[in-house]
Amino acid sequence: MEYYLAKVGELSLKGGNKKTFEQKLINNFSALSGNQHIKATVHSGRMYVECEKEECEMVEKTLSHLIGITSWAKTYPTEKTLEEISSIVMQEAKVAKEEGAKTFKIEARREDKTFPLNSNEIEKEIGGLIHTSGLLKTDLHNPDAIITIEVRKKAFIYRLSSKGIQGLPTGMSGKGLLLLSGGIDSPVAGYKMLSRGMRVDFLYFHSYPFTPQEAQKKVEDLAKLLSQYEKPSYLNIVSFTDIQNRIKAKAPHNYLTLMMRLCMMKIANMVGDEIGTQCIITGESLSQVASQTIENISIVDSMAKYPVLRPLIGMNKEEIIKEAINLGSYKTSIIPYDDCCSLFAPKHPILYANAKTASSIYRGMEIQSLIMEAFSKREVKKM
Ligand code: ATP
Ligand code: MG
Repeated sequence: MEYYLAKVGELSLKGGNKKTFEQKLINNFSALSGNQHIKATVHSGRMYVECEKEECEMVEKTLSHLIGITSWAKTYPTEKTLEEISSIVMQEAKVAKEEGAKTFKIEARREDKTFPLNSNEIEKEIGGLIHTSGLLKTDLHNPDAIITIEVRKKAFIYRLSSKGIQGLPTGMSGKGLLLLSGGIDSPVAGYKMLSRGMRVDFLYFHSYPFTPQEAQKKVEDLAKLLSQYEKPSYLNIVSFTDIQNRIKAKAPHNYLTLMMRLCMMKIANMVGDEIGTQCIITGESLSQVASQTIENISIVDSMAKYPVLRPLIGMNKEEIIKEAINLGSYKTSIIPYDDCCSLFAPKHPILYANAKTASSIYRGMEIQSLIMEAFSKREVKKM
């Protein structure tokens, strides 16, 4: 058997919800690994995973996408003797030194009370050995490496070296519908909500044949990337072509983008009803483009049936790009295919639309039946 250990993050702080948090973390682990028989358990702020050797790669991939743990490591169970424990700890200290550590601290936990030393004594005894060996210096306050020893059925020794994804286990904080375009912003917005514990489904509007099929493929790739953090998740694909043609024919040029946004919101309401969403999520950031001024955002919001969450609202493009690079979505997002909005973008979009004017233009387009039709023909893909 092989063993992994993860330090549970924020959830260990939430007293009342603790049990639900832990259960979600375990369920999410199973869903992401796709393997029901790998045993994951949580207790005392730690998650333990046991697997076969050939499952290690999959377990590591799962742990690196599991939201709600601060760090994780492979751990090696040893015999519960001081000699065995010291020798493994010494090996860990050597590796830590090779990785650049100069100082260390031992953290011991004794669950098996028949072990002759208590946790304090283990720390002193083994810490002293490393310190006097000259390998690393003791630093109890700000050590470069923390080596943990847990004395349970066996002794487990580990150094939490791989960073986990902090946040709340997906599914803890309700469900949202992300308007996912092929751009840079919306995948980052989705990831932010995922890491706050929200389940996220996706909605994409395509304008085939005005936009190529490859534009859709790009969005599918982005949805797949996000679905690595939650399973299962669904991409709703809606054809926007007829709606755009109607908008183009009926709305004043400077109101085209705003009308597209209103129609998107109408359809998002309907998809939201269908999937039981509690909010709509977009990648908008204040005043990034004309449709994202507070005036225009307010008008779009007035059409929304659900709260509209905009996790990037206060971020600038540079900050968003940084996050997209970390997430790994950036290289896909910058593949240059026109999306439905850029293709129909007016030269001079209205910056501060008037709500009454917008509403009367919207009514004048008589677009409801096209919206119903687009909704009813939507395609749903499991990611
Ligand atoms: P992004 O990088 O997310 O595309 P953007 O800077 O291009 O953002 P806009 O094109 O104005 O901004 O879109 C604002 C938001 O509207 C997007 O973040 C996304 O949530 C939603 N959106 C835009 N186009 C589409 C689309 N074709 N399908 C689904 N949602 C969309
Ligand atoms: Mg866009």
